[in-house]
Amino acid sequence: MIVRASAVATMDGSPIANGAVAISGNQILEVGKFAEIKARNSGPIIDLGERALLPGLINAHCHLDYTCLRGKISCQETFTDCIRAINSEKSKLAPADYVASINKGFTQAKKAGTTTIANLTAFPDLIRELSNIPIRTWWFAELIDVRLPNGTKQLVDSALEALKFAKKCGLAPHALYTASKNLYQCCEGADPNFLLTTHLAESREETEMFRDGSGPLYEFMKNIGRPMDDCGHDTPLMHFIRATASSSSPQSNNKWIVAHLNELSESDFELLEKMKERFHVVHSPRSHKYFGHSRFPFSRLKAIGFNICLGTDSLASNENLSLFAEMRAFQRTEPESSPEQIFKMTTVNAAAALGQQNRLGRIRPGFQADLIAVPCNERGDLFSEIVACDSDVDWIMVDGKMATESAG
Ligand SMILES: [Zn+2]
Repeated sequence: MIVRASAVATMDGSPIANGAVAISGNQILEVGKFAEIKARNSGPIIDLGERALLPGLINAHCHLDYTCLRGKISCQETFTDCIRAINSEKSKLAPADYVASINKGFTQAKKAGTTTIANLTAFPDLIRELSNIPIRTWWFAELIDVRLPNGTKQLVDSALEALKFAKKCGLAPHALYTASKNLYQCCEGADPNFLLTTHLAESREETEMFRDGSGPLYEFMKNIGRPMDDCGHDTPLMHFIRATASSSSPQSNNKWIVAHLNELSESDFELLEKMKERFHVVHSPRSHKYFGHSRFPFSRLKAIGFNICLGTDSLASNENLSLFAEMRAFQRTEPESSPEQIFKMTTVNAAAALGQQNRLGRIRPGFQADLIAVPCNERGDLFSEIVACDSDVDWIMVDGKMATESAG
């Protein structure tokens, strides 16, 4: 099959005008000028007309469990109040609601051009109940042991059992305030092929809890029975490095995808600069704005050399699952980042975070045929047009399969 478009953004050099991609099965065979691709390949030609063909978008941090919470959590005074409000809404939901919520989320994400998602689920047992998952999904079992500190190993074991129903897996100790150091280490030791993710240094209250041993999150966690003897000294980042270094191999930190990282002290930056194996970082611009967190230190993290990607987080703190909207929100706070750089955060960078830098995120021979098309007018900068795209994506291919017939 040959797919032709007025522009093809391969993510390897400049976009190709009047370009085409040859596809066989679920793989990209070749990409180049339409005339050359047509001369060398046979099969049906799909002409997408005045559109740009792009690698499918990759959402590096999401919780589809909570798609049904859209609009239900109003802005709270403190981050701790938000957690309380989310917990209260969650208590009203049954497993069938979560299944419906996850399916709804998949549909929404795909409509917005997402072909791969890193999805954290608090209910890994539900994975077996889902059929026809429409996009490439990494399932991370989100784990919390704060209420059962003696059941950590059992918690990880049952997550591993549930994840047998998923093809691509990972583990997600929720955050340092809800997951013990033991849980982080059990996750690191569980399966060398699993990816790992966690929430870190998200709110001022988390820093206050760990560094100062005070504040609303400190009081909340203390009241639910969390041992608080690790609080009052170090920053969340210091705790994370300590929790993940002792049991890890020298390579294991680059398996961590760290969400948030808004709250970093000067000494934290010194630690980050010294790290040999760097983790990946996910920023969720609209959820970040919703909670009113401290400014995400993008330029400093980028200057140190961190791989930074974008995610939507859940609809408890966001209005939809569009990564295009996420790119625009990021652009508003980081206007000096080029649109191409921003687009990489949802393609090339996110693929690298998932360890898929040789399979996803670019249009390149041998890569998976995950492609989307968006309108473009061939004037001006293509990447500016891509970031500005605010309509549903009406042409999408996942793993070589077209979801919608081309209108072009
Ligand atoms: Zn999250």
